[in-house]
Amino acid sequence: MKLRKNDLVLVTSGKEKGKTGKIEKIFTSDAKVLVEGLNLYKRHVKARTQGQKSEIVTISKPLPVGNVALVCPKCKKQTRIAFMLVKDVKQRVCSKCKAEI
Ligand SMILES: [Zn+2]
Repeated sequence: MKLRKNDLVLVTSGKEKGKTGKIEKIFTSDAKVLVEGLNLYKRHVKARTQGQKSEIVTISKPLPVGNVALVCPKCKKQTRIAFMLVKDVKQRVCSKCKAEI
């Protein structure tokens, strides 16, 4: 998984196609990412105890990694992550403008 938390991503397919958001959580084993405010679903929560109200809560569901593309914070373009060695340290860079990301 090349993406990291707080990366800005663009959704490339599905119902949120064309929208951008920040990665909130990464699920490495499922190859999914949770993007802040995207892929929202409403869930009805029934009251289990007396006095509790039934309500509808909005939850964000994770998106498959293959459906999102990284947006470079420097050149603002949809890009891919490349790696470059900087002082013997592997650094993530934008494949388009070579900015460290
Ligand atoms: Zn860039």
